[in-house]
Order: sequence, then structure tokens, then C-alpha cells
Amino acid sequence: MKLTKVKCAIRGCKNRFMQKQWNHVYCTSCTARVQYAHQFEWEQRQINKNPEERRKYHRERARKLKINLKKDVLSYYGKGGRLCCSWRNCKICDLDMLSIDHVENNGKKEEGGKNRIGGSPLYQRLKNQGFPEGFQTLCFNHQFKKEILRRRKLHIK
Ligand SMILES: [Zn+2]
Ligand SMILES: [Zn+2]
Repeated sequence: MKLTKVKCAIRGCKNRFMQKQWNHVYCTSCTARVQYAHQFEWEQRQINKNPEERRKYHRERARKLKINLKKDVLSYYGKGGRLCCSWRNCKICDLDMLSIDHVENNGKKEEGGKNRIGGSPLYQRLKNQGFPEGFQTLCFNHQFKKEILRRRKLHIK
């Protein structure tokens, strides 16, 4: 069969490609997308057959979403926009050892005392608000170090 240049059969796709086989009607990126969609559908069917599998699937999915959210936020507020502690010369970039820090230590005031939020709800809020200023990514050691420095300063006053 001779090679002919054809238009991708997916509606709305403007890609053209060399057709090598008669049944090759989608461009590479659309083929990948279609395959992914089929696989996803098949997985969903398998999962829905078994309640235990279904629960496991949703738990796993929620966990992944949470991790991705944390990664997004901590990367944004990290040193140089990378997933890394903001402290000078600190090389810690382990997601499990990093968290968000209120630069001015006004977390309690801003969040209204004991209603202060942290973890996923805070990450979600920061992302929804388009990453407002006043936050930084710190490792737990440097959160601790910052608190020590703050207390020392209060003591001197
Ligand atoms: Zn296409
Ligand atoms: Zn650090």
C-alpha cells in the first residue's frame, strides 16, 4: 500500500499524517487519546462490578489528587518555583517533609484563631485564590527554626 497523506478522522482535529495502514485514520495524538479513553472506560466497568474495588479506586484517586494539589502549591511557593524548601541553602525537596508557611507568622490572626486551616483545605484555597502572596514552602526543620528565631526575638524585646 502506498503512503498517502490524510486528514485525521477525529472531528475538530486539523492534523494530517501519512497513512501507513488502511485502518489508520487518527493522528498520533488522537490515537493516544482514544486508547486512553477506552482503557479508562474498561477500568470503570471492572471497578463498578466490585464494590470493594470501587472503594479502593476512589480512595486511591482521592489520595493522588491530594498529592498533586500539594505538589502544585508547594512548588509554586518553593525556592525558584520548584518543589523545595525556601530557606537559604536548604536542599530539602521531599514532599513529605515540606509544608506551607505564613511568611509573616499571621496564620492565627488571618484564619481566626482555632479555626486556622492547614493541609489540603489550605492548599485548595491557595490554588483557588490564584496563589496569593505571603506564603512560602518550608521543610519541617526550618518551620521549627523560624519559630525559634521568632521566640528569641520576642525574648530580647
Ligand atoms: Zn487528530
Ligand atoms: Zn529547609
